[in-house]
Amino acid sequence: MAKVLLENINKSYDETHIVKDVNLEIHDKEFLVLVGPSGCGKSTCLRMIAGLEEISGGTIKIGERVVNDLSPKDRDIAMVFQSYALYPHMTVFDNMAFGLRLKNRRRGLARLVYRNEIKQAEAAIREKVLSAAEMLDIQHLLNRKPKQLSGGQRQRVALGRAIVRQPQVFLMDEPLSNLDAKMRVQTRAEIIKLHRRLGITTIYVTHDQVEAMTMGDRIAVMNDGILQQCDTPLNLYHHPRNRFVAGFIGSPGMNFLEVHVIANDNGFLFKSDDIELEAPASRAKVLLPYAGKVLLLGIRPQDIYDRAHLPNALQANDGNIIRARCEVTEQMGDATHLFLQAGKHSLVTAVTPQSQPLPEEMMELVFDMKKVHLFDMESGDVIG
Ligand code: ADP
Ligand code: MG
Repeated sequence: MAKVLLENINKSYDETHIVKDVNLEIHDKEFLVLVGPSGCGKSTCLRMIAGLEEISGGTIKIGERVVNDLSPKDRDIAMVFQSYALYPHMTVFDNMAFGLRLKNRRRGLARLVYRNEIKQAEAAIREKVLSAAEMLDIQHLLNRKPKQLSGGQRQRVALGRAIVRQPQVFLMDEPLSNLDAKMRVQTRAEIIKLHRRLGITTIYVTHDQVEAMTMGDRIAVMNDGILQQCDTPLNLYHHPRNRFVAGFIGSPGMNFLEVHVIANDNGFLFKSDDIELEAPASRAKVLLPYAGKVLLLGIRPQDIYDRAHLPNALQANDGNIIRARCEVTEQMGDATHLFLQAGKHSLVTAVTPQSQPLPEEMMELVFDMKKVHLFDMESGDVIG
């Protein structure tokens, strides 16, 4: 078990700068999820930690060791890929035992004169494989070949092969991507349980923000090779540092409106076309430099309500209502997603299922203004 430290990590291929100055500390025993859109550099980061890719600049530490120049086999890590990467001609047992046998062979055990030492080594491997197989509930599959397994079973074998090595760090690159939706949710929970049981530091890469939110102790959000923010799931959700994180985390995605900041006697208004919203008094100080300027107002679909179904804690007033035409209704069962048009602005809300607007109905929506996020138009950084 160990912490992993990335200091000013950079990666370039020829002219292209892929990973840009990433600084990140993954704590001992932590389950850290690295999330971001496809092509943002997640796999490249993971492969640099694994030693499968050279780093162009910076330092990687696993435990107290700088591993920059260590080969993958000396880094004490085990990796699980989306593609399983099992040997097709070997049984499940042999696939899981392969890494351990190889390690023994490297240590020269195979050349030992005493047959019973070889036997002992093989018995120890057997014990580890059986114990991992039990954890993953694949004991009954040990004599099968990979092609005789379902996708979910193959991914368990790949996990088992990583577990038996008892590494300091697990590195997982989109391990659930090849599974169907139901299997993904189930295996997700199993990986978390395994992590709790084994307590091995894990870095888990995914492009799926739901997977990130449900699995991570902390989540590192990446975009375009740059680490945007690293925090707990709830802190990312409630306190995104910039527009990218705000839009990436949460489903449906946050709504963004470009608004003018207007100062009046009572404080500040956000205006755009027919929309006029009152800024909460608590924001007055941070809004002062933006008076007369445009900024980006973000609000989550869950923080916009149908006026006809307001929660008790929220009251409609002149400063928090907008009118919008309901264009599409999606009933999820526990919530209903409405896709609306308010002038030139498209909005999504997640309202109570009791709210059942007719197609094209004009609705009154209430914004919970305390939940509004404000971003600088140019930098995209959160204000205040
Ligand atoms: P992710 O895992 O986040 O989807 P990757 O780390 O695989 O992204 O890739 C990040 C970027 O690096 C992509 O734009 C990809 O095209 C580029 N890239 C990856 N490997 C190479 C390579 N060997 N040569 C040149 N560019 C590469
Ligand atoms: Mg990838």
